[in-house]
Amino acid sequence: LRISTRAPTKTMSFGWHRSETLGALASVLSIWVVTGALVYLAAARIISNDYEIEARAMLATSAGAVGVNLVMAHILHQTPAGCGVGGAERLGGSRDPRDLPTQPGSASVRAAFVHVVGDLLQSLGVLAAATIIYAKPQYKIADPISTLFFSVFVLGSTITILKDVLRVLMEGAPRGLEFDAVKATLLGVSGVQGTHDLHLWALTLGQPVVSAHVAIDASADPDSVLREATAQLWARFGVTCCTLQVERYQEEMG
Ligand SMILES: [Zn+2]
Repeated sequence: LRISTRAPTKTMSFGWHRSETLGALASVLSIWVVTGALVYLAAARIISNDYEIEARAMLATSAGAVGVNLVMAHILHQTPAGCGVGGAERLGGSRDPRDLPTQPGSASVRAAFVHVVGDLLQSLGVLAAATIIYAKPQYKIADPISTLFFSVFVLGSTITILKDVLRVLMEGAPRGLEFDAVKATLLGVSGVQGTHDLHLWALTLGQPVVSAHVAIDASADPDSVLREATAQLWARFGVTCCTLQVERYQEEMG
């Protein structure tokens, strides 16, 4: 996690935030490998009718799932740091979110956080069950069967993390940041006639990014449009990082 807070450089102008996303991907995949191995062993034990206690490995897997969920919750719980913290030059149109008075109504961060907390509770339940099996080896007959059940739960709670992680890596719109809602917000700013080249993605799970062209009518003041649009994106969606290109509206733009 430390590496993800490294200051942006000229080659890594977004900073190193994605390292935590890559880390999450690696942890989920390694949990899956271990889980797969446990399922294979459990199946083999059921078939050969030869029971040996694997509670320790089960404990380790579920603890791993709890760990991944904790890390994700921690990432999402941090206040979004804004783009280019302490580093790379700001592009015109960006504004320091710390100047903005309101707390972020970040739907995307909250949605992701609630989700991760749900997964965390689920994997804690699995961990508790694994601990009971580990502490009471006399239930070992139940062990291979419960290993299968646990694996399903572990997969269930990590697959959503994997989906979110892949969404970030594939530059998809973050959960809770609806394209149409963002577009409506931009169009709702007074003086705005149209918007195009609207892109939504995320630096990490907790840091949504918006870029768009905003076409304004001749009488509108570009600076105040920019200010209001930036403030609204922050207040409604918690977008700390937006790059808006303000341009004069022309008929053929649509
Ligand atoms: Zn344009």
